[in-house]
Order: sequence, then structure tokens, then C-alpha cells
Amino acid sequence: GGKYFSFMIRTAIPGGKLSSGQLLEHLDLGTELGDGTLRITTRQGLQLHGVLKGNLKQAIRRINDVQLTTLAACGDVRRNLMCSPAPYKNDPVYDKMQLLADKLAAELKPKTSAYAEIWLTDQETGEKTNVAAANGAKKAEDTEPLYGKAYLPRKFKLGVALPGDNSGEVYAQDVGFLAVCEDFDIVGYNVLVGGGMGVTPSAAKTYAAVAMPMAFIPVADDNTPAIDVAKAILKVQRDFGNRSDRKTARLKYTVRNWGLEKFKKKVEEYLGADLEEPRPIEIQDYNDTLGWHEQGDGRYFYGLFVENGRVKDNEHQQLMSALREVCTTVAPTIRLTAHQNILFCDLTEEDRELVEGTLVHHNVKLTEEISAARRWSMACPALPMCGLAVTESERMLPSIIDEMEKQLADLGLEDEVFATRMTGCPNGCARPYNSDIGLVGKTKGKYTIFLGGRRHGDRLNWIYKDLVPEAEVVSTLVPIFRQFRDTRQPGETFSDFCERVGKEGLPA
Ligand code: SF4
Repeated sequence: GGKYFSFMIRTAIPGGKLSSGQLLEHLDLGTELGDGTLRITTRQGLQLHGVLKGNLKQAIRRINDVQLTTLAACGDVRRNLMCSPAPYKNDPVYDKMQLLADKLAAELKPKTSAYAEIWLTDQETGEKTNVAAANGAKKAEDTEPLYGKAYLPRKFKLGVALPGDNSGEVYAQDVGFLAVCEDFDIVGYNVLVGGGMGVTPSAAKTYAAVAMPMAFIPVADDNTPAIDVAKAILKVQRDFGNRSDRKTARLKYTVRNWGLEKFKKKVEEYLGADLEEPRPIEIQDYNDTLGWHEQGDGRYFYGLFVENGRVKDNEHQQLMSALREVCTTVAPTIRLTAHQNILFCDLTEEDRELVEGTLVHHNVKLTEEISAARRWSMACPALPMCGLAVTESERMLPSIIDEMEKQLADLGLEDEVFATRMTGCPNGCARPYNSDIGLVGKTKGKYTIFLGGRRHGDRLNWIYKDLVPEAEVVSTLVPIFRQFRDTRQPGETFSDFCERVGKEGLPA
């Protein structure tokens, strides 16, 4: 089959920040060397699908030529750094948070020279095919001061967010930094450890987990306390994470096997200092940053909904062409979100009309026309792109949402905000286990329905029903929506309702 010869390439984009030129190059790569599409990932990166083996090197070189990299987008190292992406200007909270994310990304990046040797060097002549890489390669070290010879036992994910906007998904990460704010400024961060979505169906000892608050660290101009604690945690996991079983090698197992106290002690030992107790703060919201917003510097940003992050042209809408035109004519700075959407930033009053006009001209639905149910939905790629998929996800969710929209409208619940997240296997790439409604592929055409988590991202959901055929997913949910409408407490959200009533209180 073709799948053995075609590859997925993932570009790491810390905090989802990139330029129009960088996005344009990825759009071109998708058309020229990929399957004609480009995908915004759930970690604010970009993915090309269907790149033939013979084209890998060219694609990776071109990504490096626009000053981006595929290094550490995969592998047992720190993965793409996530951060709440709203481009608010003159806002010390967002400024500091995003600076920390950039710094963490840089400080925890693997220093290997092997990447440039393999991907950015002509194997026959030894000539460097990329100028920046050639310069970088000279400076690159052959020893890894942080990762050591054997790297980490497993992937290592980090995110930064604030209580009012957890779109950096701090609870789903190996290590999360949650800003502690006073008087509209950051005074420090709660450091959370041991989150992670991945579950291996054949291994009962695996589980999804939300991260636990471990310590409070003070803010500093150069972010030294945060960098130091991140490095100490990484080293503890490097030295004590389970290397004999990849299924239980993530930090979440190290933390829980030891208990938080012992883990913290070990981190303090590596740090050479005591850590303060975490502050008692909670997530209050999750900003999907869609639609029009003022940035705070006289300019605007527009968050465009991209269904399941898939950028392509088809008979309904020509999103790829629209993005190309926006990037060419308006050339805004860009940010990608954890819900696989795109922000056009730094727009003037004039740009606003250009952007909207371009989108409408290419039949792209504006965010304002998207229902709440669809706006808060997301799916992993699954079939036919992912080798681990047991069933459909990205190709299935849009029609499930179609039906859900109708049913919710009939019930008068069309404005309710809740996140539906679907995956084609229990691996959980679209973070189904902390969403309001999780639909996790169990076997061909059948899903486990999870309820009771919330889009804020700080609460795990629980299994409501297993092995639900795809055609019955919505009809299984409708009685629950009805009960919610009829018996909810004033102001109660769908997720809080499910959590309060519990599985036993819901229709069997
Ligand atoms: Fe593939 Fe499973 Fe991840 Fe979906 S959740 S992309 S099916 S590994």
C-alpha cells in the first residue's frame, strides 16, 4: 500500500506564531509535494500529509529555508510549545506569557547536529543545502547537555496559559505553566505536572490524566525560575521515567507512581532549591479567539474557524486559495490555535474589508455563520492518514455535527457552548478526554462516548457508553440534551450538568 511510501511532515511552531510567508510556503508544499491539503494541528503546528519518500528532503529543506523546523515536532523530546495565542498588545499578561513560551521552546530545544546532517546536507557532496542550517550546524553541539545520550523515555509536552484563557491547555501537558495574576499582571506561575491524553487500549495500566499543580514560581524578567524548574523536571523524567515500557513512559506515570510529594522533592533536589506551594487558582475560561477583536494597539485580529484544521479547496469552499490570497495581498502575521483555527493579526481598518472580502469571494464561511456546536468541535486525522486509527474521525465528525445542529436547534439549545472532540483511536490526539463530549474510536464504526469534562480543559470526562455505532451517536446524546434543557440549574453548563448528575442520573 501507498502508506508505506508516503509520509506526514509536522512543523513545530511555538505558540502557533508564524508569518504569512511561512504559511504560504506550507500551502505551496501541500499543493506541490503533499496531498493537496495542509492541516493545522491540535498543538498549534502544521502538518503535510502524503509526502512521498523521495520528496521528504526537499520538503524539510524548504521548511527550514523559511526559518521553521520539523525538529522536535515529533520524537522523545519536548514537543511543540503551546501557548494561549491571542495577540493582545500592551497587555502585560499575554506579553509575558508568550515570551515565556518562546523562551521555553528555545531553551528546551534539542541541540543535535544530526538533524542538519541528515536533512540539510547533500549526502554525496557533503554540501549544506540550507544557509541558516549550515551556520547553525557549526554551532550545534554533539552532546546534549539536557537530553543526554538516550534522550527522554517518551515525548514531553509543555504549555503556557492563564486562568481566564486556558487555550494553552496546561492541564493536558506533561508540564504546564499557569499564570498567577494580580492587578492585571503576572506575579508568577503555578507549575503543573503529569497531564497527558494517550491511552493504549491493550494496556489497562494506561490512562488519560490532567496535570496536577505542583509548585508556585515567581515571575522574572528573564524567566529564569521557570526555565530552571522546567529543566529540572525534564531531567528527573530523563533519569527516572520508565524506559522499559513505552506505554507507561510518560511523565504522568512517573509522577503518579511516586506520588506528587516525592516527585516534587526530587525536582527540588535537581533544582537545588525548595519550591513554594502552588497558589489556589482555577481555570475560568478558554478563549477560542474566533471572530473580530481589537488588539489594543489600534489594530485588529480575526479568528477564522477551520473545520478540523483542514485547509483545502473543494466545491463548497476554496479555503486554500483564500489563505493564499490573504497571505499575498494583506500579508498579516498569523497565529494558529489549539482548536486548529487561524488568526490573522495586526490588521488595519482597511485590511479588515480585504480579508472578509477575500474569504467571502472564495466561499469560505465566516466564523459568525458557524454554529456553537461546530465552532467548538475538533477531530484528529484518523483514516486514511493515521496508521494507528481504528475508525473514522475527521471524515466523520462534520456529518455528526450536521445532525447535532438540527437536534440542538429543535431543542432550543443552539447557543449552548460545549466542546465535542473526536478521535479515531484511544490515543487521544484531539484531546477528547478533557472535553464536554468525547467521541473515541473503539473499533471500526463504533465509539466510546465520554461526558462530564469541560472545554476549560481542567477536568477529565468519564465513560457514558461504549461501542456506540456512528449512526447512533447523536440519537444517544439527544435524550441527555433534553434532560439538560429540562432540569438544568440556572446558568448551569452542559458539562457541569453531566458532572453533577453523573452517569447514573442520565438516561440508560
Ligand atoms: Fe491517529 Fe489515534 Fe491520534 Fe487519531 S487519535 S491521529 S487515530 S493516533
